[in-house]
Parts: sequence; structure tokens; C-alpha cells
Amino acid sequence: MKKAEAKEYKAQLLALRSRLRGDVTQLADAALKKNRAEANGDLSSMPIHMADLGSDNFEQEFTLSLMENDEMTLDAIEAALERIDAGSYGDCEECGSKIPKTRLQAIPYTALCVKCASAMETRAE
Ligand SMILES: [Zn+2]
Repeated sequence: MKKAEAKEYKAQLLALRSRLRGDVTQLADAALKKNRAEANGDLSSMPIHMADLGSDNFEQEFTLSLMENDEMTLDAIEAALERIDAGSYGDCEECGSKIPKTRLQAIPYTALCVKCASAMETRAE
């Protein structure tokens, strides 16, 4: 891959990374604020509905699992940035063939060509 081309993907990856980091922080903030509100709020003076508690827990779990996925994506972005610096970006980590540009444009942090990615998914099932 040409240096100028790799630079464009690098810019994309960096933008994606800061966006994800911003999102992670916002989600963490929201989850923490919620906890604080529950700790400080006078829940004792409020009638407690079990259904409400259930939905709050679900919401929090959902937020945390979203954060986990973001962490995984961030790891993949870091690895892709390292591959750009090493000059191996755009090569499939599994079979060594070139990853199509259309795929890199859609998922700039991918380390696998379509064939290997789908083979991996099949193995995971
Ligand atoms: Zn491959």
C-alpha cells in the first residue's frame, strides 16, 4: 500500500478512535451518574416498583456491554495503527493476501480478508 493511502486510513482510524473514546466516556459518565443518583436520591420516600428496578438494571447492563464492545473495537484500532507503522496494513493477518479496499473503507480496523473473516466466524459457531 502507498504511504499516502496508508496515511488516509490512519486519519480515519484516529478519528474513529477519538469518537469511540468520547462515546465510552459519555456512557461511563451516564452509568456513574445513575449510580450516584440512586445512592443520593431518597429512594426510601418513593414507592419502589419492582418493574422499574428491573428495567434500570437492564439498562445499565446494556450500557456496560456496549462499552465492552467499544473496548474491543479500540483494541482493533490500536492494532491497525501499529500495522500501518509497521507497513503491513492492508495485508490479511491470516493468509497474507491483500484486503480489498472496499473492505478497508468499510472496516478500517479489520485485520482479515473477507474469506478469512467468514472462516473465523464459522469456526466460532
Ligand atoms: Zn485472508
